[in-house]
Amino acid sequence: MELRLADPTGLCFGVRRAIESLEAALEEHGTVYALGSPIHNPQEVARLVAMGLIVIDDPDDVPEGAVAFVRAHGVGPGVIEKLKDKAGVIVDGTCPFVQRAQERARDLEAEGYRVFLVGDKDHPEVQGITAHLGGKATVIGSADEIGDIDDGGLKAGVLSQTTQKAEVFSGVVADLALKVSELKVFNTICNATAERQNAVRRLARQVDGIIVIGGKNSANTRKLVEITRSQGAPTLWIEKSEELDWRWLEGKLQIGVAAGASTPDWLIKKLITTLAIPQVAKGEGN
Ligand code: SF4
Repeated sequence: MELRLADPTGLCFGVRRAIESLEAALEEHGTVYALGSPIHNPQEVARLVAMGLIVIDDPDDVPEGAVAFVRAHGVGPGVIEKLKDKAGVIVDGTCPFVQRAQERARDLEAEGYRVFLVGDKDHPEVQGITAHLGGKATVIGSADEIGDIDDGGLKAGVLSQTTQKAEVFSGVVADLALKVSELKVFNTICNATAERQNAVRRLARQVDGIIVIGGKNSANTRKLVEITRSQGAPTLWIEKSEELDWRWLEGKLQIGVAAGASTPDWLIKKLITTLAIPQVAKGEGN
């Protein structure tokens, strides 16, 4: 049996960077208060909690002088100010690509554009970006939500949530361009998500079955599973190697492995070791 690993797969640059800075803070300070779960993976959160991580939902819950951590999704300036009031140290794990989207949104507002943000209004990254504009951005999920724009002379600026699909963003841009007199576009999409999805799409066509490892609470892992199943590949979704179903492997000569963008390396390595297959070949066509 041959094992093929999707490429790329696993942690994206921003989450890896944030978790490394969190680990360094835990090693230095012992206890760190993270605003929101730092990663959508129960096993990784449990490992970090064992190191001293405490997850909180409200910046007011940071004790005086403690170490606070901001996850890769970022937050608004009001939250940073609250943290500054309480925390002795702030470790900012905001992904640089998210920071760039925050800056672009502020630039558009400063230049007098009405800001449209293409994304999910309930997502923390989107809430953080709109908070940089005092909540004034218009958040839309697709071109269908643009609606009528009364002021045909409007100057509009548009940007996107980093994980937005390119086709949804371009659809909004095309429709907005016909409704306003001036449109400024910032493409703030990060390709990490699309690259991982394309990798499993290719891999699913090359193997007899594919194991997707990642948190059951991880939306990006769920999406990978949807893609592999839509390609007709028998798919096993597990959070850790202990959940392997050996009967599922029977009769399969080529097995693919893919991991969500929030699955840490150690869980992937443990799965590969458990499968005890000597050769790991990269998926073809990358
Ligand atoms: S998906 Fe992209 S923008 Fe989001 S955290 Fe990862 S690298 Fe940063």
